[in-house]
Amino acid sequence: MAVRDTIKTFALWELFKGLGVTLRSLFRRKITINYPEEKTPQSVRFRGLHALRRYPNGEERCIACKLCEAVCPALAITIDSDVAVDGTRRTTRYDIDLFKCIYCGFCEEACPVDAIVETRRHGLSRTIGHPIPGINAFCAPVFDSAGNLVLGITAMGPEATFDNEWNGKVAAPLRACALEVSRRLGYLEAA
Ligand code: SF4
Ligand code: SF4
Repeated sequence: MAVRDTIKTFALWELFKGLGVTLRSLFRRKITINYPEEKTPQSVRFRGLHALRRYPNGEERCIACKLCEAVCPALAITIDSDVAVDGTRRTTRYDIDLFKCIYCGFCEEACPVDAIVETRRHGLSRTIGHPIPGINAFCAPVFDSAGNLVLGITAMGPEATFDNEWNGKVAAPLRACALEVSRRLGYLEAA
């Protein structure tokens, strides 16, 4: 056994075995994609980022019943409410902690007025050293109340100081910033 291993070592057996794997894979169909320019097909049951919808006349659908808050298994939803000038109950704060959310869809199912929905949108996109070498960037999407993409907020910086972790010092505030912009544009309740 030791002699055979020694011969294999000097014959670069493991190296050629590895190159054989590379050679076989070279002509196979590529399964990698250039995200975010290209995307893989989504399941019909895909659940992405939430949107708080309004009626076509701009009136908020949410009646602050807090059913979604109660049903959320991750305790990700926080709602505060108050009485509006017309005497109806309205939300003054509707927050979803997307780090806690498990995208189960229970909140959507529980809502009696179809106010909270999960869109088919997702993504915070990241690029590391491409197309500009040495520069990293994140882009966070902003959605309207119907779940359509309105704009993207981009942060970029030199790789030496730019935290490119998905939940790092850049990504987390950027997500929060996108949510705040969505609120200020009137697509989400004011916090
Ligand atoms: S999708 Fe599920 S975990 Fe996420 S906020 Fe809704 S109920 Fe909570
Ligand atoms: S989103 Fe729907 S379930 Fe949640 S508080 Fe508003 S009306 Fe109630």
